Amino acid sequence: MGKQSKAAGDKGAEKEATQNATSAVKSVVRPVDGQTVAADAEQPKKSWTIEDSEELYRIQGWGEPYFSINAAGHVTVSPQGDRGGSLDLFELVNALKQRNLGLPLLIRFSDILEDRIERLNACFSRAIARYNYPGVYRGVFPVKCNQQRHLIEDLVRFGKPHLFGLEAGSKPELMIVLAMLDTPGALVICNGYKDKEYIETAILAQRLGYTPIIVLEQAEEVDLVIEASHKVGIKPLLGVRAKLNNKGIGRWGMSAGDRAKFGLTIPEIINAVDRLKEADMLDSLQLLHFHIGSQISAISVVKDAIREASQIYVELAKLGANMQYLDVGGGLAVDYDGSKTNFHASKNYSMQNYAYDVVAEVKEACEEKGLTVPTLVSESGRAIASHQSVLVFDVLGTSDVSSEVPAPANDKEHLIIRNLYETYQSIRVENYQETYHDATQFKEEAISLFGFGYLSLTERARAERLYWACCRKIQAIVRQQEYVPDDLEDLEKIMSSIYYVNLSVFQSAPDSWAIDQLFPIMPIHRLREEPLQRGTLADLTCDSDGKIDQFIDLRDVKSVLELHDLHPQEPYYLAMFLGGAYQEIMGNLHNLFGDTNTVHIKLTPKGYEIEHVVKGDTMKEVLSYVQYDSEDLIENIRRRTEQALQDHQITLQESQMLLQNYEQSLSQYTYLSSSAS
Ligand SMILES: *Cc1c(COP(=O)(O)O)cnc(C)c1O
Repeated sequence: MGKQSKAAGDKGAEKEATQNATSAVKSVVRPVDGQTVAADAEQPKKSWTIEDSEELYRIQGWGEPYFSINAAGHVTVSPQGDRGGSLDLFELVNALKQRNLGLPLLIRFSDILEDRIERLNACFSRAIARYNYPGVYRGVFPVKCNQQRHLIEDLVRFGKPHLFGLEAGSKPELMIVLAMLDTPGALVICNGYKDKEYIETAILAQRLGYTPIIVLEQAEEVDLVIEASHKVGIKPLLGVRAKLNNKGIGRWGMSAGDRAKFGLTIPEIINAVDRLKEADMLDSLQLLHFHIGSQISAISVVKDAIREASQIYVELAKLGANMQYLDVGGGLAVDYDGSKTNFHASKNYSMQNYAYDVVAEVKEACEEKGLTVPTLVSESGRAIASHQSVLVFDVLGTSDVSSEVPAPANDKEHLIIRNLYETYQSIRVENYQETYHDATQFKEEAISLFGFGYLSLTERARAERLYWACCRKIQAIVRQQEYVPDDLEDLEKIMSSIYYVNLSVFQSAPDSWAIDQLFPIMPIHRLREEPLQRGTLADLTCDSDGKIDQFIDLRDVKSVLELHDLHPQEPYYLAMFLGGAYQEIMGNLHNLFGDTNTVHIKLTPKGYEIEHVVKGDTMKEVLSYVQYDSEDLIENIRRRTEQALQDHQITLQESQMLLQNYEQSLSQYTYLSSSAS
């Protein structure tokens, strides 16, 4: 927690600077919640607009140029950024539901993927032109970010004009890369732990027209490579991953430095060079790679790393290696909270700044030593794959703190109840802080009186209701204040509702659970209406960790999200954005909630086209993952039912219904089908 608040503090300072610089933040006057304190509202009510929603959910900050809000108050998607048309996400979801694609639904926009690849390449082209860099950029996509076949097929296709390649971090990923990449001239970067087969396969792949570069990540791999190369009789293309002294910061900071899991220390690199020279293979060593971690929020960290790596590159060339490529790894960050700061959920630089810095630093280092500049390689995963998918899910219900106006206390009621009612009545703008403390104290007294047997259960309920009524009245006043006193900061959290969502955090947002990663989450409709509720999200699993209670904010992190009241019989849809990297494959089957339904949407001149539908797991499928045969299960239930029939414990009709439901369920989606639609 200490770490978190420190980071948040840093962000506070940075954000303030951003805010002052742009002075874009206006203060929003919120209408008073309920009628009880309407008389205290001095400012006139201002009706809620979509601009207010834009600002509240910060959609421009994290969503540009792909996501915005239309006049109907719905989120829209412009998959081609500012270059193409847009579609209404709410209407799209309704149309997909009519095609029997239930929520939760993962929607992939292949045009966004294409736009990300175009952007990254355009940024490097611009940087190369600006600095007259006498070399080229050849990016690769690290397959581990999202291995789904449809996505990799798209990536290869969209990457062709840029000779975009793929990076494998394991043997199974190498299998994908070799079979799927068919772009002559594109690089195949072979990272991760390697054994004999991995290395031999990678070397032989040269014969198929690939440019596979085997990156030495462990000191032992040097001998393995020399052996394999003798065995197959082909000279390998080699790279070496350096453990830089410059570490990333934050979550993935341990990816660099001497204690990092991967890479060679400088002495190990020198040993490798000596071994390769002995084997007469030093000309195979052509690439230097480093990866200082993912989501590098500060551009200064990127710069320092590139400067150090450029020097190592130059020195390797001086030692006689045939250096051709400098691979700057991943780390290009995504601005999840839209704050443009060095907070862990953000980044204080643009993709263009990043490309400028890579190109400028490398050029400078090489020019100083009169060395030909390398082909630049980056392994940006998060920056390419995050934006393309949107997870839409519905709210099943809420649990709220009661909002009823309490009946006046009579003389016969317990003193503590009369005190609470009196407090309730006396709440004003002038004394809200004081009355909050009084109410809290009286409530605590009531609970201890109950503990000693002086208060009945009904009386305790009455006391708690009065306490909530006080809090609600105070909350309405607090929301109108420019400044919230520290001791009242938790009030919104205390008063927040729980929104039960049709989703498994473990399956669809594992990093939110595992490492407290923030993703932008917001309603995709009703954005012309002020969201008067504050809520946290609870998922379908029976695990108390299956919740989301940290949300993006301009300053720090919010513990509650602004949401709308549910309307009876009307669905309420939320979406989680920027989850296209890492979440799908890291998701797990906790409580046996399986893969969600997935659709691939492509923009057409007339609207859109559903390119692929990948149905989510059925119960039968998830049960088979844990070795249950559904036929056996049905047979067990059938036998039990038969026995119960014999024993006259069940009627024939009941038994038919039970068996039918059981069988049908097995071939259905693991998530709940919402009633309100
Ligand atoms: C994970 C990883 C990447 C991708 O990093 P991003 O920050 O997602 O761009 C690139 N290279 C290596 C070696 C990795 O392990």
